[in-house]
Amino acid sequence: MSEEFRLREELCRIGRRLYDRHLTSGAGGSISARTSKNEVLIKPSGFSLADMMPEHIVKLSLKGEVLDGKYPPSTDAPWHLMIYEMRSDVNAIVHAHPPICGGFACAGISLDIPTFTEVIIQIGRIPLMDYATPTTMDYAKKVAESLRDVNALLMKNHGIITLGANLEQAFQRAELLEDFARMVLIAKILGGPILLPEDEVYKLRTLESEKWRMKIVEELYK
Ligand SMILES: [Zn+2]
Repeated sequence: MSEEFRLREELCRIGRRLYDRHLTSGAGGSISARTSKNEVLIKPSGFSLADMMPEHIVKLSLKGEVLDGKYPPSTDAPWHLMIYEMRSDVNAIVHAHPPICGGFACAGISLDIPTFTEVIIQIGRIPLMDYATPTTMDYAKKVAESLRDVNALLMKNHGIITLGANLEQAFQRAELLEDFARMVLIAKILGGPILLPEDEVYKLRTLESEKWRMKIVEELYK
């Protein structure tokens, strides 16, 4: 099976998981992956992630030229491409509108809270981006700049973006982020989350076992 075909199938599989987990709805959200030829496979505009088939996916060059595809690419394509250009360690991007993260985003409340070990280990920092009008170039630049050195972003009045070395990692980060938002909400009801001290956060971010876990993810999903 060619790398491109495998990635097209995986984009559809991950798209359905995002939809089935209620991490996005309708035609919302976007998803993409980079091939080893530095080309980008991305969801077409207007399609639901639940219905996307391998042949619907649009192939773009890093400059944004359509190399293959019957449909226009997602309107999110400009910032997907900017991130691939900027981050050689990123090969997959997930953008979704999960309801609990969305609640924090609409209330303008940050999720960048060092309280849950798994989030510190697997995601790291989660900046809160100020509002910008989606589909504009100002928005695209703001998104790309906000993700220069982090793997997740909460966007005010909008949703989330997670990055990964592969699609599975980008998806797992999105799934974990929504569960984390639910935990923080419950912790706030129960009196507020307890924050971990800085030295413990550093220890968690540099765990050797996480590097090993990532090797397993790469082996399983390559
Ligand atoms: Zn969106």
